[in-house]
Amino acid sequence: MTKSFKKQATIITIILILALMSSCSDLRKNQALKKEPLNLTQGLYISNATIISTEDGHYNPYIGHLVIEKDKIVYIDKNEPSISGTFDQIDATGKFIIPGLIDSHVHIADVQGMLDHHIKKYPELVKEFNSQMPRSYLYYGFTTIINLGGISDERINSFNIQPLKPDLYHIGYSGATIANGYPMIYTPEEFRFEMEPNFIYMDSQAQNIPDKYNPSDHTPKAVVKRIKKSGAIAVKSYYESGFGRMSNLPLPTKNIMNELLNESHANGLVLTVHANSLAGHSFLADVGVDILAHGLWNWEKYKDVPTDSLPLEIKETLDLQIQKQIGYTPTLTVIAGEEALVDTKFINQPPLKKVVPKNLLEWYKTEEAQWFAKDLFSESNAEEVHKIYGNVQAHAMLVLKYLSDNNGRILFGTDTPSGPIYTNQPGYNGYWELKLMKKAEVPLHKILASATINNAKAFHLDSSLGSLAIGKKANILMMTKNPLIDIEAYDAIEKIMIGGQIIKREDVAVKE
Ligand SMILES: [Zn+2]
Repeated sequence: MTKSFKKQATIITIILILALMSSCSDLRKNQALKKEPLNLTQGLYISNATIISTEDGHYNPYIGHLVIEKDKIVYIDKNEPSISGTFDQIDATGKFIIPGLIDSHVHIADVQGMLDHHIKKYPELVKEFNSQMPRSYLYYGFTTIINLGGISDERINSFNIQPLKPDLYHIGYSGATIANGYPMIYTPEEFRFEMEPNFIYMDSQAQNIPDKYNPSDHTPKAVVKRIKKSGAIAVKSYYESGFGRMSNLPLPTKNIMNELLNESHANGLVLTVHANSLAGHSFLADVGVDILAHGLWNWEKYKDVPTDSLPLEIKETLDLQIQKQIGYTPTLTVIAGEEALVDTKFINQPPLKKVVPKNLLEWYKTEEAQWFAKDLFSESNAEEVHKIYGNVQAHAMLVLKYLSDNNGRILFGTDTPSGPIYTNQPGYNGYWELKLMKKAEVPLHKILASATINNAKAFHLDSSLGSLAIGKKANILMMTKNPLIDIEAYDAIEKIMIGGQIIKREDVAVKE
């Protein structure tokens, strides 16, 4: 053995020892992690899944293991857990798991396509719809929905007693609407104030508010206090001057909106505001509200500009929203849903059979159910409707792409249904919205974040929802495709887990 060879051998030995030492310390670390075996009483062990979850919008998928005890995640890691006790196991080899989806803008008190007189006339259809509706949200992976319209305790209870349903959050009995403004103006005068108990008193409306209402009960402070008391997680308000026959509606002042914002925050609530016009988005960006409940598609004086570039004024409004990190809810299916009313093929799409009860689907095809389409489009043919809506949607998508490209805070929300229309169906509408976001060129990882962690953070639900992490509620989807690669993954859901309960997708579809 030569000297130099000996030296080399010594170096190699040292390197080997070092390598061994470091792998030993890895081993010890792992053992330290494993040292406390999880003793489960009502457990579920999901092994070898591709885990797709984020806390900050960056994704690093990995193959790993997740353990649920009762309704919570108790373990998530690359390494196998050490578990004992009572538990089921799912081998998720080749499958993808993500947190359950959150739709932050729905209206569950409505029946798609029906007005009050239809609801009274067809109680059986209404009953079938209401028992399927929560399941239809689950069918498309929505394990949490946030109701952004007024809702009664009775309606919340009737939803919550359903055996299979998403988690429901809400904004209380009514939004903080301006007296006689949008949307309360649509309720006949004799019921209007009772139906919207959280209206805001404005002196300019004093003549048109019944005397029995005391202005001091209808200040932003009093209204937000009532909303908080009703168990709401957010305050909904509106900036909408109206459309068609109902235009020039009273609007909130900056003072009112500022007070609503401050009172919401003082009560731990989030302020989300309806607006889809440039005037509305610019007003609300200026105030710095928390969330815009719709996208900016009503470009007003710019409505006829080409669909491939943003007017400076719109860009400046969006830049302010980005700078203040205001939540932006695209709700592209509002436009697509209205447009689809002239599309005779819409109602015959096979996937609708999975989420809409058969008798209701048949009713939608009747002359009686086509009332809204006729009302809305009495003066235009299908071709004209597509041209008008195509232009509006192109503008909406251009805005969304700009926000996506420039670090805007995008929140997934559909506004299901946006009006008395049958084209925004529970669950299916969410899947449609996801695809429209993709069409607007939002990258897939941003789409997923918008429907999970972004919504959870924006609505202060992230201590229990929005990601896969120890301590969080076990709302999980198992998919056969990767949602970071293929938008169709959202239609390739195999199992839905809600609070640890495992549901096979077919089990929440409409029963044939
Ligand atoms: Zn809405």
